[in-house]
Amino acid sequence: MKTDVQVAVIGGGIVGASVLYCLAKSGWTDTVLLERRGLTSGSTWHAAGNTTYFGPYPKMTELFAGSIRTYLEAEEESGQSVGFHRTGSLRLAATERELALFRSYAPRYAELGIPFHIRTPEEVAALHPLIRTDGIFGAVHTPTDGHVDPSGATRALAIAARNRGAAIEQQCSVTAITPEQGRWILETAKGRVSARHVVVATSFWAREMLAPLGLHLPLYPTQHHEIITEAIPAIAARDTELPAMRDSHVSCNVRQERDGLLIGIYETEPEFWALDGIPPDFKEELLPPDIDRLMPHLELLMARMPAFAEAGIKVSNNGPLCFTPDGLPMLGPVPDHDGLWLASGFNVGIGTGGGSAAFLAEWMTGGHPPPNLEVVHADRFGNDLTKDIALARIRDVYARGYQLPDTI
Ligand SMILES: Cc1cc2nc3c(=O)[nH]c(=O)nc-3n(C[C@H](O)[C@H](O)[C@H](O)COP(=O)(O)OP(=O)(O)OC[C@H]3O[C@@H](n4cnc5c(N)ncnc54)[C@H](O)[C@@H]3O)c2cc1C
Repeated sequence: MKTDVQVAVIGGGIVGASVLYCLAKSGWTDTVLLERRGLTSGSTWHAAGNTTYFGPYPKMTELFAGSIRTYLEAEEESGQSVGFHRTGSLRLAATERELALFRSYAPRYAELGIPFHIRTPEEVAALHPLIRTDGIFGAVHTPTDGHVDPSGATRALAIAARNRGAAIEQQCSVTAITPEQGRWILETAKGRVSARHVVVATSFWAREMLAPLGLHLPLYPTQHHEIITEAIPAIAARDTELPAMRDSHVSCNVRQERDGLLIGIYETEPEFWALDGIPPDFKEELLPPDIDRLMPHLELLMARMPAFAEAGIKVSNNGPLCFTPDGLPMLGPVPDHDGLWLASGFNVGIGTGGGSAAFLAEWMTGGHPPPNLEVVHADRFGNDLTKDIALARIRDVYARGYQLPDTI
């Protein structure tokens, strides 16, 4: 095992693997990724893999677009499929105000060269015949996004990083991080590692990991449900995959999964998980699902997509999902801790992990943050946000789901 490196990346989810790969592409290959179990064993293995280009933060669009780009590059280099389905996405406007906001985002997408169309309700029905368009004012259509296979993408990133010279150690838990003479010393299950830089990509584990350094990261896991239905005849009869749909009124995303639907729900009354600490023996596990809690959303979805009402539920998953108080990841250097970097707090880590890693690698290797993305800088919360305030904000931001903040 490499024991003296320029960079140690802690965490082998899609984010850590993306960071390792993007650093390697920038020429930094004196690196090692340390993962306590196997790659993807955190939240990544059970994610739905949605990678939309549309979000309420037009400034973040670059990270979304950069993610698919990064995964496809890793696929090309590694020969490992990332399972990208270019289905496109529809973002429904439930109000005129929403549609007006959507329109105001168009120049940002044009600047980035990302196809972005405002569709009428009739056009929405033509693109996605399962959607009942009564009461909607239109939609944004981003035809070039879709979904990837999160495990395949992580493997591709890992293989491509290794091919460029990076190392990966699995079953290698980091148990302590301490500064020593301008470097960082990591105690791990396989011995000590000395690194000039450490990137903490451990999602909701990051808070406890860095607490001994006097850092109070406002990262906490919420519970997050997804449902997969049995096959639906109207889908099975199609020969092209349906675009993904996001609806702020129903507060869910829906995409095709084989001949059925995969639905992710943002509950208006979210529940947290493990607020007093992540159980040390937590493995590749899911939490008990609670369909009753989801019923208000599922009923709205039945009205929006009547075919869903006829479909049996095949799988319901409830997984822990890392959230920050504004719902955005924490990326960049930790103030007053030279060489310590954060890449944690992702709630759409598949959608934004690859692009965020490219952003972080540019910052680390170039010495300056790429411009105009202060919204994700790791220092934005300060170190004195109380747990109560952090939880209250996370509750609000989670419950808001796909509703747009008016100005960002
Ligand atoms: C039901 C559900 C559906 C989802 N669907 C989507 C979706 O469609 N699109 C999307 O973008 N996102 C989705 N997500 C969110 C997505 O899963 C996460 O944002 C993403 O996986 C986070 O990646 P990560 O690398 O930050 O964290 P993780 O995948 O959790 O990786 C962190 C890693 O750190 C390791 N680690 C922790 N402590 C240590 C230690 N001490 N030493 C070494 N290693 C350590 C862990 O073992 C873990 O492997 C979904 C989440 C849920 C719950």
